[in-house]
Amino acid sequence: MSAFSTGTMRESGFTVVENASLDGRNTFRVRARAELLIDVRRPEALEQVLDLPYVKSNPLLVLGGGSNVLFTRDFPGTVLSVTAHGATIVEERGGSALVRVGAGENWNDFVHWSLSRGFFGLENLVLIPGSVGAAPIQNIGAYGREVREFIATVEAWDRTSGKLVRIENDACGFGYRDSLFKHEPGRHVITAVEFLMPRSGTLVTNYAGVAEELTAIGAGETPATVAEAVARLRTRKLPNPAIIGNAGSFFKNPLIQDKAAEALRVAHPELPAWPAGDGMAKLSAAWLVEASGFKGFREGDAGVSEQHALVLVNHGRATGAQLWALAQRVRDGVAGRFGVLLEPEPIIV
Ligand SMILES: Cc1cc2nc3c(=O)[nH]c(=O)nc-3n(C[C@H](O)[C@H](O)[C@H](O)COP(=O)(O)OP(=O)(O)OC[C@H]3O[C@@H](n4cnc5c(N)ncnc54)[C@H](O)[C@@H]3O)c2cc1C
Repeated sequence: MSAFSTGTMRESGFTVVENASLDGRNTFRVRARAELLIDVRRPEALEQVLDLPYVKSNPLLVLGGGSNVLFTRDFPGTVLSVTAHGATIVEERGGSALVRVGAGENWNDFVHWSLSRGFFGLENLVLIPGSVGAAPIQNIGAYGREVREFIATVEAWDRTSGKLVRIENDACGFGYRDSLFKHEPGRHVITAVEFLMPRSGTLVTNYAGVAEELTAIGAGETPATVAEAVARLRTRKLPNPAIIGNAGSFFKNPLIQDKAAEALRVAHPELPAWPAGDGMAKLSAAWLVEASGFKGFREGDAGVSEQHALVLVNHGRATGAQLWALAQRVRDGVAGRFGVLLEPEPIIV
């Protein structure tokens, strides 16, 4: 395939590695390789990178921190990562500020940056792994908040038009763990995200034990204390990818018609369900997986966490294909028992 005579090249603003290992670039810690791995430090170099003959004529995968990806095979093309980072206040707008953040910035570092500057809003999204550039892709959310509430504009290189574009919030197609970017993988390479960050606001504490944790901490409600409460809850509930490979929740909470949810709740009154608008209800995927008997289930080194039924874990040497086979077994088990089809949250490669 070689478009390059050497294994590694340094050009201005980007680095190219041929036949690169992705083992350390995915939180499942499965083995995988890319024919070409390109780290782009300066977004201005993107046009040149995307114009390379090999890149133009082979598949492209944009990768951030690899915390929402399952590699079931080697990638037969270019894996590209935008590493530009840093957060800057661009302008003050009344009680809010417009903040521009490089796509390669670590999400959790940005949350702490925003807290240290007195902004409200991102406290519930603390400790979500990954990069700022990936946050709009599935509209990351946790503990009653979603990132779409704070995104003003997504800046991206559009490979279809061959231009740098700025996509305003209402054109991003944000939904539950969803956006237009998820539907056209590889089209947009996000270079920066601009957030409209309020300096005051209402804190969301009525979700999944946050208020109780605040009481246990014995502190008043501020963005910093809510972040601390959420961080403590997450640390207790979720397996840490630094210790055991995983990608957080493997399945989305399924959305089904209200009527179907009511029928399920008659048969299983303990099944958690929430109204989702438009005649739909959202069910707890974790409950469905656990009630189907999969919590702690293991096939070789591929397993369902004992700590959290929604998290698939790599106990050591599981391959991506083995984890994917387990995911399908869980999905089929839940569909067989409850007639509900679970959809994976991570991108399956
Ligand atoms: C322990 C754990 C807990 C988690 N908890 C949550 C949670 O509470 N809520 C939640 O929403 N998610 C959660 N996740 C999932 C994950 O953290 C998020 O989806 C995160 O946004 C992924 O960021 P990343 O940089 O690792 O993206 P990657 O995994 O590298 O990529 C994810 C997707 O984004 C695309 N992408 C990445 N960067 C760019 C870019 N610059 N331009 C265009 N496309 C890009 C990729 O192509 C891929 O489709 C969790 C994961 C783990 C491991």
